[in-house]
Amino acid sequence: MRVQGYPDPGEGLRLHLNENTGGCSPRVLEAIRRLRTTDIATYPSYPSLVRACAEHFGVDPDWVLLTNGLDEGILMAAVGHISRARVHDAETIVPQPAFDPYPNSSRAVGATIVPVPPGPDFVFPTGAVIEAVTPLTRMIFLNTPGNPTGRLIPVPDLVRIATAAPEAIVLVDEAYIEFGGSSFLPELSRHPNVLVGRTFSKAYGLAGMRVGILIGQPPALDPVRAVTLPFNVNAVAMAATMAALEDREFLPRYAAEVARSRELIYEACRRLGLPCWESAANFVLVRVGDEAPRIVADLASRGVHVRDRSGDPATPGCIRLTAGMLAHTEAAIAALDGIMVGRTP
Ligand code: PMP
Repeated sequence: MRVQGYPDPGEGLRLHLNENTGGCSPRVLEAIRRLRTTDIATYPSYPSLVRACAEHFGVDPDWVLLTNGLDEGILMAAVGHISRARVHDAETIVPQPAFDPYPNSSRAVGATIVPVPPGPDFVFPTGAVIEAVTPLTRMIFLNTPGNPTGRLIPVPDLVRIATAAPEAIVLVDEAYIEFGGSSFLPELSRHPNVLVGRTFSKAYGLAGMRVGILIGQPPALDPVRAVTLPFNVNAVAMAATMAALEDREFLPRYAAEVARSRELIYEACRRLGLPCWESAANFVLVRVGDEAPRIVADLASRGVHVRDRSGDPATPGCIRLTAGMLAHTEAAIAALDGIMVGRTP
């Protein structure tokens, strides 16, 4: 039997899961320490955190659903809109390369996946996505900035897609939007078929807490709410999220550090002759060529864990590395320099 989850890569720099490499705000740990025994002994109550999130995102509290990581939100969106609605022969549109939970959730609810290949240089294939819409389309997964490319989908393109598929739920996954680009949120009141997904795992550094959020108008959100378990986010995670929202200085400081790290990675790629793509997220996709698995293993032996994306036909020869604290990026680049010596890309 395969053991649950991702293997722990062990000692070293974790640049393989797009986490916050600097850790969460210290205020989060303080809030967790302040918890009382009765906070742990009782089931969590969500209204105060829902209201804080609604205020933070500038939406009505009825439009907010807390989830156990955005991963859960993705699955529950598919369950709510496809399984619960008893839709047979449902299709989901999944532009490539895609975050695994999109095809996995589609399969879990018995939907047929309609993949759409990327444009040249991973420019988002808006026209092809619209052409792929059929009367059977029930969900469209859009990710901006996209994992693993870091490319943005312009908001007017998101609007065009949402308008072209009024019978489908368009899930706009903005897991990395705090690192660059414009959110769809200001448009949301005009689009009752859109769910915006956000997470506290990345910019806020709460990946271990598992808190995500789906934001949408009642027609999009209520079917998801109906299938989401009543105590899906735990009390410790709630306290952590509230404290993270209250620390207003943490996020801009970290996003600025990530932006500088990305620049260092581009510069290193230019120097080493490795193609890479300008990213709006906290990671950069780099084409290292046929030796990608060896390069990933060599980096790991030097204590730098990055993601091998070369097995995906949409990202041949590519690796993805997290851009986090500058010191971590510098260490990763030093390791890459060391192993690229004498190799021709
Ligand atoms: N969407 C995308 C595109 C992601 O990369 C991730 C995390 N890897 C998530 C959603 C889910 O994040 P979480 O479940 O940690 O909130």
